[in-house]
Amino acid sequence: MKNSILSDRILNLGESATLEMTRLSRELKAKGVDVITLSIGEPDFDTPQHVKDAGKQAIDDNITHYPPVPGFLELREAIAQKLKRDNGLDYNANQIVVSTGAKHSLINIFMCILNDGDEVIIPAPYWVSYPEMVKLSGGNPVVIDAGIENDFKVSPKQLEDAITEKTKAFLFNSPSNPTGSVYTRDELKAIADVLARYPDILIVADEIYEYINFDGVHESLASFDEIKDQIVIVNGVSKGMAMTGWRIGYIAGPKFIADACTKIQGQYTSGTGTISQMAALEAVKTDPKKSKDLKIMVSAFKERRDLLIDLVKDIPGLKSNIPNGAFYLFPDVSYYLGRYDGENKINNSTDLCMYLLNDAHVALVPGDAFGSPDCIRISYATSKDLIAEAVHRIKVALAKLK
Ligand code: PMP
Ligand code: GLU
Repeated sequence: MKNSILSDRILNLGESATLEMTRLSRELKAKGVDVITLSIGEPDFDTPQHVKDAGKQAIDDNITHYPPVPGFLELREAIAQKLKRDNGLDYNANQIVVSTGAKHSLINIFMCILNDGDEVIIPAPYWVSYPEMVKLSGGNPVVIDAGIENDFKVSPKQLEDAITEKTKAFLFNSPSNPTGSVYTRDELKAIADVLARYPDILIVADEIYEYINFDGVHESLASFDEIKDQIVIVNGVSKGMAMTGWRIGYIAGPKFIADACTKIQGQYTSGTGTISQMAALEAVKTDPKKSKDLKIMVSAFKERRDLLIDLVKDIPGLKSNIPNGAFYLFPDVSYYLGRYDGENKINNSTDLCMYLLNDAHVALVPGDAFGSPDCIRISYATSKDLIAEAVHRIKVALAKLK
């Protein structure tokens, strides 16, 4: 059989560059090459013991049957309490849907709200999967660019200028992947003020990096009363609780959105894994202010960020901002684009990342994939020794470009 059987839908879908670069680095490693992987965005810390124990207990308690489609009521109630405890927000369990990672939560939303040709405004740099999810759901991503000179943050005017009659949603992410930028409360307020004038636009606020914030408490966009009715929060346990492999994400928003996501999930995946849900229950019950595990992880990320920024300063031509959250640095590498590695021209950040993978054996993700072709993403969720070695290798390799 030929692959011409494949649908336009899948043929037009871009591959996830974060996962692709990580796959390439795994392949090189399997050949015995000493690759440093700074491409995947996941904590290198293990899931806290008390959370793992809750997962084991769920198996012993035979919590192994089909769960309710939107997730166990106990878990959704605990998520509602988490939203009150951490964000001062009031939600009922029936406004919450648990899914197989925040990735699944996001695609559920777009599948539920988009008709062909509907527009979703996405600030760039954006996380790689956002535009592809919108396209997969029949929508058109409308990208608004934020440069490094603005700390990679879009202005209220840019947002307002991008709104058309076809705008269905605005997709917002702070702390941001790939830039690590965190919007201040005043900046959020200015964004909220614009959106309050367009009550038919759904705001999708991806707050998955909520707990990885170096400068204080997370400010949720949902905390502005004037937009509370038009916002859906996307969050999960992958990043803040070091639980990427458990695959638990959730939404909290208007009940009709939760009902729609439950309906699609009922036909598509059913409720997500019971063992993971019971582990997530333990995780969301954990007050981040009292969690030793979280404190250790976030302070390690902060130290590594400081080290990375310091080391990167020594590489000629690289420009960086100072990210206040997540675990990424997104330096501008335009100084090196258009140069030659001896044989080949480095045309763009994808070429540069392939060169750095093959020559320096460091896996990074090209900014092209995040809508910012002048940048590359460095994930610093790894040890300080490996960060130092990786930056050394990158510096040596870049110096060879003429
Ligand atoms: N949103 C952002 C901004 C991300 O970086 C990721 C990747 N982990 C996700 C959503 C999805 O997270 P998960 O599916 O692991 O919950
Ligand atoms: N979100 C992480 C990243 O940006 C994990 C990989 C993925 O799901 O894209 O690297």
